Amino acid sequence: MSSTHEEKSFRENVNLTFDIAASTLDIPEGLGYYIKGVNNVYQVRFPVKINGKVESFIGWRAVHSDHRLPAKGGIRFSSMVNQDEVEALAALMSYKCALVNVPFGGSKGGLVINPKDYDEEAMEKITRRFAFELIRKDYINPAINVPAPDMGTGAREMAWIASTYAAQKTGDVNHLGCVTGKPVSQGGIRGRTEATGRGVVFGLREFFRHPEDVKEAGLEGSLEGKRVIVQGLGNVGYHTAKILQEEDGAKIIGLIEWDGAITNPDGFDIEDVAEYKKNIGGLRGYPKGTFVDEGAKVLEQECDIIIPAAMEGVINARNATHIKAKLIAEAANGPVTFDGEMILREKGTVMIPDIYMNAGGVVVSYFEWIKNLSHIRFGRMTRRWEESQNDLLIQAIEKSGGKVPDSLKAKLRQGASELELVRSGLDDSMREAFQSMREFYWTNDKVHSYRIAAMALSIEKIATSYLEMGVYP
Ligand code: GLU
Repeated sequence: MSSTHEEKSFRENVNLTFDIAASTLDIPEGLGYYIKGVNNVYQVRFPVKINGKVESFIGWRAVHSDHRLPAKGGIRFSSMVNQDEVEALAALMSYKCALVNVPFGGSKGGLVINPKDYDEEAMEKITRRFAFELIRKDYINPAINVPAPDMGTGAREMAWIASTYAAQKTGDVNHLGCVTGKPVSQGGIRGRTEATGRGVVFGLREFFRHPEDVKEAGLEGSLEGKRVIVQGLGNVGYHTAKILQEEDGAKIIGLIEWDGAITNPDGFDIEDVAEYKKNIGGLRGYPKGTFVDEGAKVLEQECDIIIPAAMEGVINARNATHIKAKLIAEAANGPVTFDGEMILREKGTVMIPDIYMNAGGVVVSYFEWIKNLSHIRFGRMTRRWEESQNDLLIQAIEKSGGKVPDSLKAKLRQGASELELVRSGLDDSMREAFQSMREFYWTNDKVHSYRIAAMALSIEKIATSYLEMGVYP
C-alpha cells in the first residue's frame, strides 16, 4: 500500500464507506450528498484561571444530522482531538442511532486537553466552562443536543455538565435530560456505564447465533473458549473483556494498553488485571502474563477475535496484512481504516462494524433520556405488581397439583429491576439491529460486508426521514 493510504483523515475514511453504501441504494440525487456532510460545527475558545494562571482551551461540538432531535453523541477530552475527528465521530453517531433505531440525530464534541495534566478541581472548572459555552449556543439542551461520555470523560464530567445546565437554565423541568451517562444519584440510569461493553457482547452473542455467519468467518461454535485480544482496558474494553470472560467463557489471551501489552495463552482474569492497572497505571510488570513493549504488535498474534476498544485507525494498511484474527469486533469508533478493511476483506477476515458494535452506549443513553423526561425510574410502578402476579401464578400451579422447584421460585417471583429492564432493552436492540444488518448483507448482491450493509441501512433510514419530513426536495 502506498503511503497516501495512511494520509486519509478519519472523516475521509467514514465518507469513503458512505459513498460505497449510498451507491447500493436508490436515493434521490443530492440527498446522499446532503446526508454525508456535517450540518454545523461550533468552535469555541475560552480561558480558565488555574492556580492563578490563565489558560486557554479550544473545543468543538459538531452536529452531523438533525433529522431527529435531539442530536446525540459524546464529548471527548483528548490532547489529540481536532475538528476533523469530531466531525467524523458526529457522522458515525447519526449512522449508529439510525441503525439501532434510536430516534436521535448525530453529534459529537471534543476538547483539546489531557485530563491527566489537571487535578479534579481544575477539571471541574474547565468542564463547567466548556459546558457553559455550549449551553449558551444550544449545543447542550435536552430537546436539541444531548452529550454523553466518550474518551477522557465519564459520569463525573456528565454530572458537572448537568449541574451547569440546571444553574444556567433555571425553570427547565427537563434539565436532567440535557446530558446522559450521569451518576445514578444525578439522574443517571443503572447499566449505562457498562452499556457499550455489554452491547459489544450482546452483538457478538447474536453473531454466534447464526452458524452461516460464523462459518463465513472460519469459526465454529459459540464464544466459549474463543481466544480474544482486546485493545484498550478503558470503560468499553474493560466491560467487554470482563463479561466475555465471566459470562461467556471466552479466553482473553491478550490485552493492549498505552504502555504495552500482556499476553497469556491460558487467558486473563480481567478483574485481577484491572485492579493491577488501577494501582500501577498501566500493564507493565503484571505478574501473570508476558509483557510486550510494542503493544500494537499483539494485534498480529494468532487468535480468533480482536476487539479494538480504544482509538480510531489502529488497524490500517500498515498492519492489516499481518492480522491473523478471523473476526474483528469494532468496539471503538473507526478502529479499522478504509484501506485496512480492503486488505482484511481480501484475506477473508470478517469485521463487525463500529456503528453496530458500539451502539450499546447510545441505546442506554436513550433509555436514560426517556427516564429523565418521564421523571420516573423504569419499573417503579410495575415491579411489585409483577411480583404479586408471579406469586399468584406459582400458587395456582401448586394448588392444581404442580410443583415449582424452590430453586426457581425466587427467580420466578421477582419483578424486573431497572438494571434488568435496561439490559433486556439493550439486548433486544442489539439483536434486532444485527438481524437487519445480516439480512441486508446476505440478500443484497451489491453489498460485500456488514459495514456496507450497516451503513446502507442507516443512510436509507435517514433519507426516508428527510423525504417524509418534506425537507427534501
Ligand atoms: N460516546 C458514545 C458513542 O460514541 C456514547 C454516545 C451517547 O451515548 O450519546 O457512541
